[in-house]
Amino acid sequence: MSNIQTELHRHLDVSMRVSSLLKLAQERGLESQSTSVDSFREKLILTQPLSDLGSVLGKFTLFQKVLDRPDVLSQAAFEVVEDCYLEGTRQAELRFSPSFVCQLSGLAWDDALDGFEEGIQRGLKKYPDMKAGMICIASRDLGYDSVHETVEYFLRHQDRFIGLDLAGDENGHPARDYEKAFKLAHARNANITVHAGEALGPDSIWEAVEILGAHRIGHGITCVQDPELMRYLAEKQICLEMCPTSNWLIKAVPSLAHHPLPEVLRAGIPVCINTDDPGIFGVDMPGEIEICRRVMGLTEEEILQCHAHANAASFLGSTIPANID
Ligand SMILES: [Zn+2]
Repeated sequence: MSNIQTELHRHLDVSMRVSSLLKLAQERGLESQSTSVDSFREKLILTQPLSDLGSVLGKFTLFQKVLDRPDVLSQAAFEVVEDCYLEGTRQAELRFSPSFVCQLSGLAWDDALDGFEEGIQRGLKKYPDMKAGMICIASRDLGYDSVHETVEYFLRHQDRFIGLDLAGDENGHPARDYEKAFKLAHARNANITVHAGEALGPDSIWEAVEILGAHRIGHGITCVQDPELMRYLAEKQICLEMCPTSNWLIKAVPSLAHHPLPEVLRAGIPVCINTDDPGIFGVDMPGEIEICRRVMGLTEEEILQCHAHANAASFLGSTIPANID
């Protein structure tokens, strides 16, 4: 099994370089011309678990405001591919939510796709030994109609995406509410991953796999509370895309030393290491791997196992997963 460094879970729309975000914010009058990159970084990047959700949402809003033209999205995507490459990653799955990206700017969803795609292609041209693809996110907190519209958009452009995701706050937006929309994607043999078990318990993960047919789970932290679910995930080889620093900063785990990744890995469940949102968490792949090694005590062999799991579960190359019913 190949253990080339592969990242499956990185949000294209919240991964911008601090310097690029500052420049765009200044051009739009959203940030003072006198702000330095260092002071902007200090303001932007979360370094402690969040205490106030409002201020975090404010950070997301800034990304939404500046991603307002296809050429801006293109440059952002190019830089994400370049950053991944420089981090040692050779296969990257990058995801974005069209409803989130276009919500404040009024950019057309198709223009967002064109912009991101063009930037990724430019990145791959510069780094020909790199592979990258896009996953389309449906934002669960925007309600059923928005999710349905996103699934239809995904299906219209299915040849340009490698998979479909459901993201956003699990609280009040259970996976079962989106069964009908995800059935449409299933009928077209789409690769599916679902954010689950980050804010809520194991039931949320059960719903993602049993009702939405997820082939992979974003995070899946709370699976360790349910031995039956652990056995199921190991038996079906459903990969958990874990994001250590992100999980800690949003309080899905009490500390990095108490992260369940080693327990999940040693239970035979495929698990991999990811960055999630480098734009607000200030993380990169080498740093996350180092946390797994030094703070969680993973051996070198176990780190390579995580890379191999990411490889085996990757939607790039897009062979349709075997566990489709
Ligand atoms: Zn995520």
